[in-house]
Amino acid sequence: MITRVKGTQDFLDVTLFNFIIQHATQQAELYQFKEIILPILEYTDLFQRSLGTETDVVNKEMFYIKTREEDESICLRPEATASIARAFIENGVDQLPWRVFTCGPMFRYERPQKGRYRQFNQISFEIIGAQSILHDVELIAMLDRLFTERIGINSHALLINFLGCAEDRAKYKELLYNYLKKNHFEELCPQCKERLEKNVMRVFDCKNAQCQLLFRKAPKITDHLCQPCAAEWEQVKEQLDFLSISYSHQDTLVRGLDYYSKTVFEFTSSHLGAQNAFCAGGRYDHLVAMLGGKTDQPAVGAALGIERLMLILEQIKDTLTMPQQKAIQVIIPVAKEQQPLALLIADELRANDMGVEVLLEGSIKSMMRKANKLGAAHALLIGEQEQQDKIITIKNMITGTEEKVAQANLVTHLKK
Ligand SMILES: [Zn+2]
Ligand SMILES: [Zn+2]
Repeated sequence: MITRVKGTQDFLDVTLFNFIIQHATQQAELYQFKEIILPILEYTDLFQRSLGTETDVVNKEMFYIKTREEDESICLRPEATASIARAFIENGVDQLPWRVFTCGPMFRYERPQKGRYRQFNQISFEIIGAQSILHDVELIAMLDRLFTERIGINSHALLINFLGCAEDRAKYKELLYNYLKKNHFEELCPQCKERLEKNVMRVFDCKNAQCQLLFRKAPKITDHLCQPCAAEWEQVKEQLDFLSISYSHQDTLVRGLDYYSKTVFEFTSSHLGAQNAFCAGGRYDHLVAMLGGKTDQPAVGAALGIERLMLILEQIKDTLTMPQQKAIQVIIPVAKEQQPLALLIADELRANDMGVEVLLEGSIKSMMRKANKLGAAHALLIGEQEQQDKIITIKNMITGTEEKVAQANLVTHLKK
């Protein structure tokens, strides 16, 4: 048997998947985000330049595409933000701010585990040309309202941190480096010792309990911001309070990618265990310039992991208001001779916007059982007599009552 590729999954029931897409799309429209669709294939260089060559995503998790051109390096996109910035530059978008969202699969070669796949789906929201720090709060508010009010999750928390500008980070990295190197080097795990030399802020990704304890006492970046950044950080917190959005400040939140500056945030849920973020984002003021844009464009964005959110929703399914399934009619031709007429009647009902299934196999008894299983509103029986008299026997599957109706009046009768 040929199986699916490791770390991918088949969705045989897309109810929850579509539930998320539908609500996210409606929410995005309310906030004036326009949908765009971008390619899954991109040049590897795009992610090397944007994510940084020292990140796990670029070092270990890329899916490369073998092409016929030897000097060409193409990959499956590991995330959408860099692609959106590329599209912004390449298409010369000049209407600012550019508020867009996109849904689709992303690819990372990781160890598959619960809620983590090698092919996974994200909805990405981006505002490019977002000068004011209040755009960050508006984006966070949109997501918070989406989860709380529209979808109806109440188990989530919003974590937020502020990484300042490049100068702030350079100074802070030195502080953190000195703190860990001079006083606590021997207490760090081997991986953190390595991270310390390569990209010190990456130590915060460590899950080791002893390292975490050390970080709690480490200097905090929000205590070392320049004056304008400190003012913006205050503004973010004040505006969140003003909009009654609850959050907690987590000073070790730095996000896994190199392009973030200033605001970073994550929505986490206790329903997800250790890998508990299902939506994350932040500001990336220099990404457009890093990718060759003529001018720097401040921007802020977030990505929502559909599989992660599905894991949460599966646990609270009973409390969700799912869209009502449309009533279906099941047509049962008694013998082969009535099958062509059954298809003709089905055609007419569907033209009138009714969901219909025609049963073409099995005995009457098994077809009735099937109709029941399908949750049919009515079973429409057509035997020899019905065919001759141009009528249909309608069995109400809920009450069990039967009646005979002229074929010509069927649509009006069912619509009642
Ligand atoms: Zn600053
Ligand atoms: Zn560590």
